[in-house]
Amino acid sequence: MKHKYVIIGSGPTGLGAAYRLKELGITDFIVLEKEDRIGGLAKSFVDEKGFLWDVGGHVQFSHYSYFDNLMRQALGEDGWLTHQRESWVWIEDRFVPYPFQNNIKYLKPETMWKCLEGIIQNYKFPSNRKPANFREWILQTFGPGLAETFMFPYNFKVWAYPADEMNAVWVGERVAVTDLARVTKNIIFNQEDYSWGPNSTFQFPKFGGTGGIWEAVGNLVGREYIKLNAAVNSVNAPAKKLTLTNGEEIEYEHLLNTMPVDIFTRLVDGLDSSVAEKAQGLKHSSTNVVGIGLKGKPKKSLETMCWMYFPEANSPYYRVTVFSNYSPNNVPADGEYWSLMTETSESTAKPVNRETLIQDTIKALIDDQLIESADDVVSTFHVAFEYGYPTPSVERDGILKEVLPALEPFNIYSRGRFGAWKYEVSNQDHSLMQGVEWATRMVTNVPELTLFFPETANAMWGK
Ligand SMILES: Cc1cc2nc3c(=O)[nH]c(=O)nc-3n(C[C@H](O)[C@H](O)[C@H](O)COP(=O)(O)OP(=O)(O)OC[C@H]3O[C@@H](n4cnc5c(N)ncnc54)[C@H](O)[C@@H]3O)c2cc1C
Repeated sequence: MKHKYVIIGSGPTGLGAAYRLKELGITDFIVLEKEDRIGGLAKSFVDEKGFLWDVGGHVQFSHYSYFDNLMRQALGEDGWLTHQRESWVWIEDRFVPYPFQNNIKYLKPETMWKCLEGIIQNYKFPSNRKPANFREWILQTFGPGLAETFMFPYNFKVWAYPADEMNAVWVGERVAVTDLARVTKNIIFNQEDYSWGPNSTFQFPKFGGTGGIWEAVGNLVGREYIKLNAAVNSVNAPAKKLTLTNGEEIEYEHLLNTMPVDIFTRLVDGLDSSVAEKAQGLKHSSTNVVGIGLKGKPKKSLETMCWMYFPEANSPYYRVTVFSNYSPNNVPADGEYWSLMTETSESTAKPVNRETLIQDTIKALIDDQLIESADDVVSTFHVAFEYGYPTPSVERDGILKEVLPALEPFNIYSRGRFGAWKYEVSNQDHSLMQGVEWATRMVTNVPELTLFFPETANAMWGK
């Protein structure tokens, strides 16, 4: 078999590339997917009891009108439900609205003072040093009190690596010191300061979860262009030929890879061996999704809640989504049910006992007062993805600078969440657009924006 364009992976990046090629009138391409269905990390699951689960809380904050238009086309105007982005932090046995720093009035007086004192210290002793890592960025932005109370413990739970092993590039590097006047005013006048409001909404599919979106995009691409159960086993870069695990050979002119680039480079023959070696230095963490299906209704305080952050050590999860609030179709139709979807990160620096994770999660949900009793649990679900978060480690950009350009002389391009490893541009919209922009470049020579200028792409928010 021979195709002008071959795409490895049918997640948002691969589907974005395929969709754009077709839009540009190109039909000589194929998408190769190792699984028996499309969607990658953006797929959904339905458990035995009929509860639907995503791979963690997928919320769309689109930066691109192209993406928005495609989403409308995929599911139709009526295919979406709109929600207000209500998010809270659970700490000291209470909910604090997000952003945490603006709402420290909710905390115990000692903790509130600790946070405030740290911000004052930052004003007294301002630093104009460029933060060398994420830890320094946190301290310079929030001060030591907020760092110790929320930022350090929460970020360790999310990223599964200590903050000093992460860079400050993905947060934009610039330090915007926490606004002392605003924080103090909120305390004195007992003011709420939420990040959500009438304009802060997000959309979620009425049916089929996040995976439903990508199934629909797959239909727009055309299923005949997507080959399932087709795992790439090796690539002969000089010969422009790849081999699947079943032995089938496919020739290409241009190859887009969207599988993790550390694994991919090990499959490619003809590259300098230092490229694959370098790529092995990229760090990632794994994602465990534990879904808890419940009978009855959520308690009042959870009725409008979207997701909650958990910085404390009693719970394995860093985030819990009241997933039944996203769509009534995320739970079975034959009775009164609701659901909580939890995310627990894992890495060599933060191991997780997967054997006990479901039980540990239920216990913590009771401790954290989200559910009353284990007797309400009617379904449990656990899925683990080895590659969940591409860690923005301190060494990341140095590695990417050597690995990605080394592929291009062979007409091989690596894009997407783990194809290009840039967390700051690895959501669904970014991933799709990395694929779209790659296809546009291939066909019309227009340079790509998202991967190479993440800050510019992200500054386009809302446009
Ligand atoms: C926990 C979590 C929470 C998230 N939350 C959000 C959110 O709130 N909002 C948002 O917009 N995005 C979110 N995302 C990100 C979203 O899932 C990604 O943007 C998206 O799935 C990345 O797309 P991709 O195509 O780059 O990679 P993937 O989805 O990883 O797709 C890669 C594909 O390649 C296939 N593949 C791998 N190896 C081979 C091989 N050898 N041969 C053939 N195929 C292969 C895989 O099976 C997979 O289908 C979240 C992701 C996670 C993990």
